Amino acid sequence: MIITILVWVGALLLVFQAAIGLSFLISCIWEKEERASLFAALQFLGMLGLVLFFFYLKAIDFFETTTGASLLVAGFVVAGGAVFFLVRRTAPNQKALQGTRGLIVGEVERFDERAQVFARNRSIPPGSEQYGRFYKDHPELEEYDSARRNRGGPLGHVGSIDSSSGTPNVAATLAALSIPLHLSRPEQYHPQQHPEFKGNKVDLSLQEATQRVKGYALMLGADMVGITEINPFWVYSHRGEIFNENWEDWGTEIELTHKYAVVIAEEMDFRMVSTGPHTPTVIESMRNYAKGAFISTQLAAFIANLGYSATANHLRHYDTMLVPLAVDAGLGETGRLGYLVTKTYGPRIRLSAITTNLPLIPDKPIDNGVEDFCKICKKCATCCPSKSIPLDGQEPFNGTLRWKLNEETCFEYWGKVGTDCCVCMRVCPWGHATTLPHLLIKWIVSRNSISRRIFSAMDDIFYGKKPRSKDAPAWAGFGKKTGSNESTT
Ligand code: SF4
Ligand code: SF4
Repeated sequence: MIITILVWVGALLLVFQAAIGLSFLISCIWEKEERASLFAALQFLGMLGLVLFFFYLKAIDFFETTTGASLLVAGFVVAGGAVFFLVRRTAPNQKALQGTRGLIVGEVERFDERAQVFARNRSIPPGSEQYGRFYKDHPELEEYDSARRNRGGPLGHVGSIDSSSGTPNVAATLAALSIPLHLSRPEQYHPQQHPEFKGNKVDLSLQEATQRVKGYALMLGADMVGITEINPFWVYSHRGEIFNENWEDWGTEIELTHKYAVVIAEEMDFRMVSTGPHTPTVIESMRNYAKGAFISTQLAAFIANLGYSATANHLRHYDTMLVPLAVDAGLGETGRLGYLVTKTYGPRIRLSAITTNLPLIPDKPIDNGVEDFCKICKKCATCCPSKSIPLDGQEPFNGTLRWKLNEETCFEYWGKVGTDCCVCMRVCPWGHATTLPHLLIKWIVSRNSISRRIFSAMDDIFYGKKPRSKDAPAWAGFGKKTGSNESTT
């Protein structure tokens, strides 16, 4: 009787594992991953063979024999042990659970937005008083920045990697800029309460305010939303980005009185990112920046109508650094590539935020095993065309322990290809398509170090150590077949 039950449970489990194998194969085909589809097909055939063989053994009453019964029990023990070692939750990474505080190893200086590469390029016109002031303090950057300006800025000649049929993609990329720019004036990113509310505060409990703000953000199109108390280290020290000829703001100290940040992540379309470093990927980045500007501005206006102060942080106005805030808000962890790595979408997201004095319930930082996975994986570093991502361990930088991206060489590469590249984002195993098999793998990988090692190796087998970029949807075609890791360095 026990053996009969074991046989049927075994049969069900084998059919279940074959179904997972089949769903992974379907996912790989949907992703248009030829290599992964081939390996997934082989894996599925193996699983199917196991099911058929099992039913054959059952049909010949093999499990009724002493040898068969012993093998059946041994099979359960081995499979059970393997599942146990794959999914058991080992001790969490205490550093990750502290968020960015867990990374602080020394004195942290607030970052000056004037020194940020976009601000240097866009907001310091040669010959201006600001130009003289900035390069007097940073003479080492003047020649370098001047060469970048002559090239056309961080993106150089936009879309230059693609043939002339990529021009509509440049049009689509730049079209997205129109939205954030329209929302870049103080009355928009820092809205006043609508007169309807007569300057009153709407009475809300902490729970209700939190639920309403998060729910509204998700309804507006956010894919993830988290809340944190703002660590002042992640507030820019001085204003550097100027968009509306408001030169009196350049260099002013940023004094943020808001206690909370609501951080929003939006998923970037898998197919568009999979073309990186070609133009569809920068269309998608810009679309998400525009979407973030829309969501954060509307959310800031909503909070203003509740009677509280709120400021939208998006492509055309930042008071804060969004990646550390997102880590503290529990949206993910910082990966080797320097981006936020979320559990569901990996680094395939863009961020925006609202800072506010509306009292809210903060979320807690999380541990998905990203730090440990990144120590094993290194795929972004080996695939980065400009070698801007470190291959070795984390190092202290400005009082925090992290993998320090070389932003200057990364932007050099952007200038060469005329896009924001996104190769690191494209190849990251956490960034695979949001399909059920990948979500299952990400859940397993978040459990323990053994599974991270196994699935990191499997990712290399299925997708290759240097996965190739893919073709775009027809409407975003870029006039060229892909087929390499696209290193143009
Ligand atoms: S590619 Fe690998 S090393 Fe790089 S961020 Fe992703 S998981 Fe980490
Ligand atoms: S965006 Fe491209 S160049 Fe920059 S770090 Fe990522 S892979 Fe390297």
